[in-house]
Amino acid sequence: MYDDVKACADVRTWVGEHGVSVSLTAEQIAACSHPGRCDDDVESVIGELGLAGIGQLAQAELIRRELREWGAWDDEELKDAAQNIRRLVWIAAGDLAQEVRCAHCGTWARPGDDCPECGKSIDS
Ligand SMILES: [Zn+2]
Repeated sequence: MYDDVKACADVRTWVGEHGVSVSLTAEQIAACSHPGRCDDDVESVIGELGLAGIGQLAQAELIRRELREWGAWDDEELKDAAQNIRRLVWIAAGDLAQEVRCAHCGTWARPGDDCPECGKSIDS
């Protein structure tokens, strides 16, 4: 019971350049960002997320555009919409895993960026 509440409070949302968003718990972020192959973990996290966790799951073209920015896949590879969702969740988890808490206000932010909440710089 307590774990459920804690997991809910721990949800962080990744938003891409084109507005695609993915919301993940700390546990899901860790599961999808460890070294080595994460495919099975990503697959099970997608199962947990369902439609609610991936804001624009239905917008395959938007996700495709998002991944194109990444530059890791060609147009042929990006035709696979189901695979694109896995790639998106994997990227989101990897990005979120790099975030640290702002020493001043506790907001999650990327090292090297300014804190989105208090504006102070985030040390890595
Ligand atoms: Zn801050």
